[in-house]
Amino acid sequence: MGAGAAQTAEPKGASRAFVKDQARTTCHGRPQRRRPDFAFIMANQNNWLLAAIEPDVRARFQPRLRRTSLERGEVLLSPGETVHRVYFPETALIGLISAMPAGDAVQTGMIGRDGALGVFEACGTRQSAFLCEVLVAGEAWVMAADDYRRLYETSADLRVAVHKYVEILLTEARQFVACNALHSVDARLARSVLEALERSQDSRTLPATQETLAQMLGVQRTTITAALSQMQAAGAIRTARGSLEVVDPAVLEDAACCCRETLKIARAEIYASDEPVCDA
Ligand SMILES: [Zn+2]
Repeated sequence: MGAGAAQTAEPKGASRAFVKDQARTTCHGRPQRRRPDFAFIMANQNNWLLAAIEPDVRARFQPRLRRTSLERGEVLLSPGETVHRVYFPETALIGLISAMPAGDAVQTGMIGRDGALGVFEACGTRQSAFLCEVLVAGEAWVMAADDYRRLYETSADLRVAVHKYVEILLTEARQFVACNALHSVDARLARSVLEALERSQDSRTLPATQETLAQMLGVQRTTITAALSQMQAAGAIRTARGSLEVVDPAVLEDAACCCRETLKIARAEIYASDEPVCDA
């Protein structure tokens, strides 16, 4: 499971995020706090869910968090496997892959520092419905699923962050149904590359093979080869063996379908919603 080289430490930069949270008023007679400063979290390289936890709660659970390096191609969960660990990526990128009985497979989700692997299953069926494989090598925090459940029950801010994450995933899923039906492979590829880069450690280089990109979009590898050639000719990217470098982000943004902007606005609105949290 790649959880070697473990260490425990405070997630970097997280404490500053919640200075605003300390102001307390009342909400129907119950304690009330401001929600986490998601604008701050999104601007930093922390895992956004971990960064949302109240500092005092995080201090209690910190010894149960371990730092781990995830290798490209590493399988973290197989379909039907029990979820024993929850992963909070910081620079790694994890793909959720749906496989058909005939053997065909397509990527149906992507988890980076904006989310976590196992956060829903650990509190529900405790089983994975997907093959969960590391797309881009990098760092992550890992916690035992039992500890995560206790953390979820303890941290009101984490519950709010997870609910926002659910809302974003549902919004993305609905948008991607429309995107797959209406938009070209070239435009979808440009959007997917930009979104993958935002969730991983490097804003310019995506270490993904053509096979990975084909699985990401659910198309043939030859289709990806043609789309990459067009992007390269337009000066947007440069391809190398097993990776893709963005040469001109503006050209790539122009090539991306309108779902790129639609989802950016939707995510910002969901994260920026600032209803007060009531401690039940
Ligand atoms: Zn689209």
